[in-house]
Amino acid sequence: MAEVSLAKRKEKCENYHNISIALVSLVQVREPGQLLFSACLSCDGCLSEEETLMISQQSLEDLHRVLALNKKCDASKHKVLVASVCPQSLPFFAVKFGLDIGEAARKLCGFLKSLGVAHVFDTTVAAGFSILESQREFVSRYRRRSHDSNTLPMFTSSCPGWIRYAERVLGSLVTPHICTARSPQQVMGCLIKDYFCKQQKLNAEKLYHLVIAPCFDKKLEAVREEFYNSLLESRDVDCVLTSGQIYGLMEQRQVTVEELDSSPLDHICEVDLHRHEGRGSEGFLEHIFRHAAKELFGLDVHQITYKTLRNRDFQEVTLERDGEALLQFAAIYGFRNIQTLVHRMKKGRVPYQLVEVLSCPGGCLSGRGQAESEEGRIDKGLVQQMEEAYTSLPVQLPELNPAIHTLYQDWLQGHDSPHSNALLHTGYRTNNLLHPQPPHMQW
Ligand code: SF4
Repeated sequence: MAEVSLAKRKEKCENYHNISIALVSLVQVREPGQLLFSACLSCDGCLSEEETLMISQQSLEDLHRVLALNKKCDASKHKVLVASVCPQSLPFFAVKFGLDIGEAARKLCGFLKSLGVAHVFDTTVAAGFSILESQREFVSRYRRRSHDSNTLPMFTSSCPGWIRYAERVLGSLVTPHICTARSPQQVMGCLIKDYFCKQQKLNAEKLYHLVIAPCFDKKLEAVREEFYNSLLESRDVDCVLTSGQIYGLMEQRQVTVEELDSSPLDHICEVDLHRHEGRGSEGFLEHIFRHAAKELFGLDVHQITYKTLRNRDFQEVTLERDGEALLQFAAIYGFRNIQTLVHRMKKGRVPYQLVEVLSCPGGCLSGRGQAESEEGRIDKGLVQQMEEAYTSLPVQLPELNPAIHTLYQDWLQGHDSPHSNALLHTGYRTNNLLHPQPPHMQW
C-alpha cells in the first residue's frame, strides 16, 4: 500500500470528512494562519508546517535513519530497536499473508527482526491495563455522580482521533467527561521506556520504540507533549508506522512471505496471543459494563445484547433489574454519529452513563492506515476478512491475566499507587491548556 501524500489526504478529507473540515475552518477563523490539526478527525490533511514536521518524523525514513546509525562504528549512537504491534494490525497481516493470525504474527516478527529490530511485542497487555483503569474510573465517577455533574457520561479515551476532536472543537463541554486512562499505545510506551528499560538496564534514550498501528491518528498521539519524559529525554513512543506502511516496506524490498523466517513474538510477561472482547477495538464498553454491573449492583452479566439504533455504529446496551434500567451504555463510532451524540449532549439529552467513542466507522480494524484502498475508500471486503481473523483469537479477560497483576505489583507498586496514577493516566487540553487528572484521584 503506497504511503498517502498530504495533498491526496487533504483531497480525501474534503471528500469524506466534509463536516470535520467545516469545523476545522471555524477554528482557523479564530486563529488565522495556524491550522489546528486536532480539530479534525481521522485525517491529517490540515496540519501546520510545524505539525507536519513532527508527523513527518514518524516515518519509514526515520526508521531507516536509526537502522543506518546502528550499522555505523560509532556505538554511542546505536539504539536498541523495540517494536510493539497493535492487535488490530495483526489481522491485516494475516489477510495479506494468507495465514492464520498466529503464524502471520511470527512472520511479521521475522521480517522486523531481519531489519534489525531486537524485540517485537504485541500491545494486548497494555490494553489490559487501559481497560482495568477505565473500569475503576467509571465506578468511581458513578459513585460521585450526585455531587459532580462532570462525572457522567464518561467517554472512553482509547481513540486519538476522538480525543483531538474533543479537545479542539468541543472543549470543556466534553473534556472533563473523558476517561483519564491512557490509551493502550501510551501504556505500552510506559511499559517499554520505564519497565522494560529497567529490566534491560538501558537508558530510555538508548531505546527506539516503534509502534505498528491501524491508523495515522496514533502518530499524533505519540507526539503529544504529555508523552515526552523530560527527565529521561525520551518519548514513550518514538515512531508510529501504520500496518500499510510496514506492508509497503515489505513490497519495496520484494520480500515474500515464504522467504520470511517465522519468529515468535517476545513477551514482556508470559502470555499467549489473545484478544479482548468486542468488535476489534478492545471492547472497552463490554468490560466496563460487566465490571460496573458486578461492582455497583452485584449482577453477573453473561451475555451482552446490543440494540442497534441509527445504524451498526450507533448501538446501546442496557442493564435492567425488575424492569428498571440500571445502566445504559452506548457504542458510537464514526464522525457522523459523534455529531449526533454531541448535538444531544448540548441539549442535555444523553441518557448514557458511558459512551465508547471511536472516530472510525466500524472501529479500529477499519483504520485508514490499513483498510483504505488505493482509491481512498475503505475496503469492506478486507475489513470483513480482518474481522474474521481477529475473532479467531482466544478471548481473555484482563482481570484474569495473572501477568497484569504481577506487573501492578512489580512495576507500579500496586493499584492506585502514585506511580500507577502517573503512568497509566493522563489529562486533556482545552484552549491549549493541559488539565491533568485531579490530584485527589482515587479509583
Ligand atoms: S477508531 Fe480509528 S482513529 Fe480511532 S484509534 Fe481506532 S483506528 Fe485509530
